[in-house]
Amino acid sequence: MSIEDKAAALAAVEKQIKDDNVCPELREGATQLVFADGSPDAEIVFIGEAPGKQEDEQGKPFVGAAGKFLNEMLAGIGLKREDVYITNIVKYRPPGNRDPEPEERDAFMPYLMKQLDIIHPKLTVFLGRHAMSVFLPELRISQVHGQPKRKNGRVYLPLFHPAAALYNGSMKETLIEDFAKIPAIIQQINQMEPTIKPTKNLKLEI
Ligand code: URA
Repeated sequence: MSIEDKAAALAAVEKQIKDDNVCPELREGATQLVFADGSPDAEIVFIGEAPGKQEDEQGKPFVGAAGKFLNEMLAGIGLKREDVYITNIVKYRPPGNRDPEPEERDAFMPYLMKQLDIIHPKLTVFLGRHAMSVFLPELRISQVHGQPKRKNGRVYLPLFHPAAALYNGSMKETLIEDFAKIPAIIQQINQMEPTIKPTKNLKLEI
């Protein structure tokens, strides 16, 4: 698919969320839908949890303190926001920044899966345990952070959430170290891509 076709298909998913009136109560309490930011043609997709206050106001994911930290980590591996695609599982801000409910995550999943199908990234990075838990519920982020995992033909990288890491020195260091592995993981994916097949084996053999 060309980048223009991808952009159009993604715009249709965004419209569909509104037309389907997904999570009407969240929608009611939010300023606007926070769909995504970045390139429809990205090799790397980042998935967070849900918009916070600043995201709700600006209509873009990861634009507050956690977003600033994410931008810095991207710069550390030579990337800009425009080079990657950033979204959240839940696309309206939950009231008072509470954690999204499992039903809210479930309600947005079909749209997130469509986003991934359209973009077809090489690597999908989970920012935090909430994002990871809907794709790899059998794993614990404390044990698998920074380790690429392969499932159903996709490669995932679970990372600690930048907002959590901002206020915890050792977690922050770990997140920066894990993040720095991304270029090497992409290189490995480039080498193994022709052989990636749907598999139940979660371990990315390196
Ligand atoms: N935290 C998230 O999980 N997503 C955002 O968009 C901002 C902060």
